[in-house]
Amino acid sequence: MILHLKNKVSETQAQQVAEDHDAILFQDNNRWIVVTSSSIKKPKKESLEFVEEFFETETDIQLAGRKYLDKVRTVKWGDVEIGGNSLHTAMMAGPCAVESESQIIECAEYIAGLGISTFRAGAFKPRTSPYTFQGLGLEGLELLDKVRQKYKLSIITEVKNLSHAKEVIDVADIIQIGAKAMYDVSVLELCGQSRKPILIKRGFGSTLQEFVQAAEFVLSKGNPNVILCERGIRTFETKTRFTFDLCGAAYLKYHTNLPVVLDPSHAMGYSYGVPDLAKASMAFGCDGMLIEVHPTPAKAKSDASQQLDFSTFTKLITDLKIVGGAVGRKLV
Ligand code: PEP
Ligand code: MN
Repeated sequence: MILHLKNKVSETQAQQVAEDHDAILFQDNNRWIVVTSSSIKKPKKESLEFVEEFFETETDIQLAGRKYLDKVRTVKWGDVEIGGNSLHTAMMAGPCAVESESQIIECAEYIAGLGISTFRAGAFKPRTSPYTFQGLGLEGLELLDKVRQKYKLSIITEVKNLSHAKEVIDVADIIQIGAKAMYDVSVLELCGQSRKPILIKRGFGSTLQEFVQAAEFVLSKGNPNVILCERGIRTFETKTRFTFDLCGAAYLKYHTNLPVVLDPSHAMGYSYGVPDLAKASMAFGCDGMLIEVHPTPAKAKSDASQQLDFSTFTKLITDLKIVGGAVGRKLV
C-alpha cells in the first residue's frame, strides 16, 4: 500500500507513520510518501489524520504499477524526453565497451554524425569470465566524459558494483544497471538517491516480478526516473544467445508506469539478427532501443559477435525511421 501524506505533515510525524507500518518513507516534490508491504491493505487508525490518500496494491509492484499511476512516467536527459505523452523512441547506440581513445572517438563521431544524441559504451564490464577484458574502468569513464563534451552527446554507461558507482553516477547522463547487477540492492539504493535516469536491465534468469521489484528499490528511495530494459532471457534454446521476451515487454508496457527500452543486441547475440529484431522493437512501440555498434566488430574486446558495423547500422537507422513512421513514432 502507498500512502500520500498531507502537505502539512512534519518529518517526525511522517517517520511515525512509516514506523507504525514497518514501511519505507521518502519525499517526492515536498510530499511525504510511505510504502508498506503490499500485504497491508488499509492505513492504521492512528495514522489516518496524516493521510491524504492511499493506494492498495496486489503485489510489491507498487510505485511502478498502473494501479498507482495509470500513465507512463516521463524520463528526460539532454534534449530527449521519453514516456509521458512523447511518441519518441530514443536510440542508445555505441560499442559494448570503451576499448581505447581512438576507438571511442571514432564511434562517438560516427554516432553524433547520424544525429543520434545518446551514446552507449561500458567502462566497467560485467563479464562471465575473469580472463576476458573487464573494461578500462575509470580511464574509460574519463574518455566517455571527453567525447560527451566534444560531440555534445548524452552518455549511458553501466555500474557493475558499488566500488565505482559514485563515479559512474557523476559522469553518466543515464546510469545503466546491467543484467547481473540487477540484484545488487546497494547499487539500486545508491541510484535511488540520485535523480538521474536509471536504466535497469532484466536479469536473464529473472521473473518480471523480480525485475520490477528491482525498480521498486530505486523508486522507493525517491528517484522517479527509472527505465526498464528487456535484453533477453535464458530459455532451453541455444541457437541464439538469449530469447528476446517481447511478451514480457508487453506485460511491462501494460502493467507498469515505467518507460520500456528494448535491447535486441544482447538478446540475439549475433549481428545477423539484430536489424530484424530492432525493426520489430520499433514496431512494438518501445520508448528506447539499445544497439551495439563497433567500427570493426570482429576485433571487439567484448560481445564481438553481436555488434553491428557502421554500414549495417546506418542502413538500420533509415529502416527504423520508416517503421517508426508507420506506427506513429519518431526515432530520436
Ligand atoms: C551491455 O549492455 O553491454 C551489457 C553487458 O548488458 P547486460 O547487462 O544486459 O548483459
Ligand atoms: Mn555488450
